[in-house]
Amino acid sequence: MKRALITGVTGQDGSYLAEFLLSKGYTVYGLRRRTSTPNYENVQHIKEQIHWISGDLTDLASLIEAVRIADPHEVYNLAAQSYVAASWPQPLATGQMTAISVTNMLEAVRLVKPDTRFYQASSSEMFGKVIETPQKETTPFYPRSPYGVAKVYGHWITVNYRESFGMFACSGILFNHESPRRGLEFVTRKVTDAVARIKHGLQQELRMGNLDALRDWGYAGDYIKAMWLMLQQEQPDDFVISTGEMHTVRELLEVAFSYVDLNYEDYVVMDPEFVRPAEVDLLLGDCTKAKQQLGWELEVSFQQLIKMMVDEDMKRVRAEIKY
Ligand code: GDP
Repeated sequence: MKRALITGVTGQDGSYLAEFLLSKGYTVYGLRRRTSTPNYENVQHIKEQIHWISGDLTDLASLIEAVRIADPHEVYNLAAQSYVAASWPQPLATGQMTAISVTNMLEAVRLVKPDTRFYQASSSEMFGKVIETPQKETTPFYPRSPYGVAKVYGHWITVNYRESFGMFACSGILFNHESPRRGLEFVTRKVTDAVARIKHGLQQELRMGNLDALRDWGYAGDYIKAMWLMLQQEQPDDFVISTGEMHTVRELLEVAFSYVDLNYEDYVVMDPEFVRPAEVDLLLGDCTKAKQQLGWELEVSFQQLIKMMVDEDMKRVRAEIKY
């Protein structure tokens, strides 16, 4: 029976990955950071099945201990400060949690169990001000936020540990991936939550930033399977995971609002607060390599994804009202 250690297990991707690995018979260890207000919303249904280990990504000793306890075959490093907009007001914390922490995790693995297979959650934000379109594994990086810069470090240190120490370390360059478990500050979930609240008369307007940004949005439940597939290969490698389709934020608004018979133009208000100091105008991934080498397949389309998210938010808001 295989053992996996997941950092960021209470987040969107971590929770889907934990479900997936449990269904495959893995023993799943989850790293949790001590906080006075723990949030298990995404993993409530599997909380008892996860073996919890206390630790902090910025504290190497705690990670060494975590790897000792879990004795894992696979480590999935998903924890980070993951919200781009928050990385300008907190660039150093983002650097600690999103960049340096990757070296901490790699060091813990190298020192305790160097044959562990390691997955690093890299990001399409590394492409930033894109050098070519679509973006693939060989496209040079040009990050546009402290978050993007930190992820570039995480990517290269993962590649470096593979090349320096022969570790089985993979970097998955995942384009935006969403779900009903996405944090409320991200644009997809912000919109689908607002649609549900507006439809129920709980909200009158939706304040937004740049509606012209283009993103390649996929379903998180599809993307976590690619993480696992990467660690089942004979050789470690890096892969782009994307849908190969892009849509504007405006299209996202259209799909979400029209699904419940509303016109977004009646509710959306431009607010400079949500415009970023530097923007990533366009992201479009070419995941040919993942399809060919991993046999990875996409199951949920952009329209299906947004409708799934609106449905779930409608359900949740209805339940809140009744309560
Ligand atoms: P990101 O691609 O990781 O930054 O994911 P986000 O979901 O946070 O943002 C996606 C795009 O939506 C970016 O280009 C944002 O500038 C744009 N956007 C426009 N209005 C908003 C907003 O109100 N909130 C967020 N989060 N993004 C917005």
